[in-house]
Order: sequence, then structure tokens, then C-alpha cells
Amino acid sequence: MTSTLRKLPVLVCPVVFCMMLLSAPLMADIKVFTCEPEWTALAQEIGGDLVDAESATHGLQDPHYIQARPSLIAKVRQADLLVCTGSQLEVGWLPALLTKANNPKVLPGHDGFLEAGSLVRKLDVPESVDRSQGDMHVGGNPHVQGNPHNFTAIAKGLAEHMSRIDPENAAAYQTGLESFLQRWETAIKGWEQRAQPLRGRKVVAHHRSFTYLEDWLGLEELATLEPLPGIPPTSSHLAELLESLGTDGKGADYIIREAYQTPKASEWLADKTGIPAVMLPTTVGGSKEATDLFTLFDDVLDRLLGAKP
Ligand SMILES: [Zn+2]
Repeated sequence: MTSTLRKLPVLVCPVVFCMMLLSAPLMADIKVFTCEPEWTALAQEIGGDLVDAESATHGLQDPHYIQARPSLIAKVRQADLLVCTGSQLEVGWLPALLTKANNPKVLPGHDGFLEAGSLVRKLDVPESVDRSQGDMHVGGNPHVQGNPHNFTAIAKGLAEHMSRIDPENAAAYQTGLESFLQRWETAIKGWEQRAQPLRGRKVVAHHRSFTYLEDWLGLEELATLEPLPGIPPTSSHLAELLESLGTDGKGADYIIREAYQTPKASEWLADKTGIPAVMLPTTVGGSKEATDLFTLFDDVLDRLLGAKP
């Protein structure tokens, strides 16, 4: 039910009908604006029909770089809850969206603002801010959705924010949370069993997007195709990688990239070294198989095990 409709009956409806409308919390919905699709999917897992959730980016878009388009500003203006990864992942566009939307409910420090990345242990936290190491990830690695265990703390935080914003439906959010966590923990056990052969395997990653996935699966990242986070691969850097990886296919087990990275550099290096290049979705919609949070991790494992059983 929209907020317009909620106000309308006060003026025009009979008393009994008004009371029905005003005392029908299950019909209510909260508008959730997320920066990345994984948080939209998580909000839907917890809130079901009670939430109307939409992401600023889709699974084939690089969340570091998007335009603060007028359509997005309008959505932030109408949002009850904003859920973003934070840790500077959206530093190039989210501050502009928040300023232009002028919606105090979703500003930092309010119940309508949730920085998902702040709820988990951060990796790659630099000891000092050194811009010579690139402009990205200066607050630690933001790609926290690579480890499914991180969703547990974030789901709890999200359910808490939803309950504060919409207290009438707090019990429903708690039930949604418990149902999700139960299914999620079972799924994690299955993934960890399937992923056993991956332990200790060596990867070269396009960007440092997979740090949390690698930490979870016990993969070892040897190098990145980007010379520094956010700096596109250069021919001299790729030549150095080729030199160190060799041409016998044994220098690493995988060359991995995100769905939104151009395959050119990883395919060039795969061709020269004989190491398989594998695209791994990093969020829902990053592949046609990754239709929700569960199939996202199913697909990541399918792709890794499919390229090298
Ligand atoms: Zn990044």
C-alpha cells in the first residue's frame, strides 16, 4: 500500500473501513533502496511481500562506477531504508545521490541507513592511507559479499533496521530472518563440502573483488590483472604476469574476473599461459544462473569446479 493511499481514507472512507486499512500492518510495505543487488535479494528474503526493494545497480554493472541519474535520485527520495555496502565502494556516486535526494530518513546515523560492510570483519585494511596503492579500497576491501558467512550478521542488522522502521511488522521480519538463516546455514554446509577440492588452489584475479571468497574457500591470490585497484590492466603489467606464470598452465589454477569486467585481459593471459579464465558472478544477476543468493554461490562453485574439477 502506498503512503498516499494510507492518508486518503482519513478524508473519504467510512469509519469501519478506515480502521481496517489503518490496522492492517501486513498490507504495509517499506521501500528499500539498495546500492547492490545482493542487498535487494537479502531484503526480499527477510521481508518478502512487506518490502518493495530495488537496487541502483544490476549484476552486470560495476558498483564502483555509476551515474547519479535523476531516476535514482527520485528513488532515494522515496526510500524508507537505504542499504549499501559502504567502505567507500560507492564513494563516487552515493554522496551525490543522498545530497540531491534530500531525504533525511536515509542519511547516515538514522534507522533508514544501513552500511552492510560495517557489520563484518574487514579484510585488506591498509595500515595507512597510501594513495600510491591506488584510490580504491582505502577503507579496507569492500567486496564483503564474497563470503556467505558475512550475510549472517548483515541479515540480522537488516532485520533490526526493518523492525525499527516498521515496528508493526517486527514479528514478520523476525520470522523471515530466522527462516533465511536456517536455510542459509544449511546451504553454507553444502557449499563448504563441495568446495573442499578448491582449498589451496591459486588464482589470478582481475580486480581484488574476490578477497572474501578466497578467504572463505582457502584460495590463494597470486596477483591481479589490475596493476593497482581500479587501474585497468596494462600491457607491461600483463607481460610481467606472463613471465612469472609461465606457459605450461601450472603457474596458477584460475584467472578469475567479475561479470562486469571486460574479458580481454584475462582471456589474453589464459591463452598465453594455458590457465583457464573463469568469469565468476559477484552478485545476483551476475550470470543467468545466479537468480538469488543461493543460486549465486551454487553458480560460483559450479564455475570453479567446472573449469577444473
Ligand atoms: Zn573494488
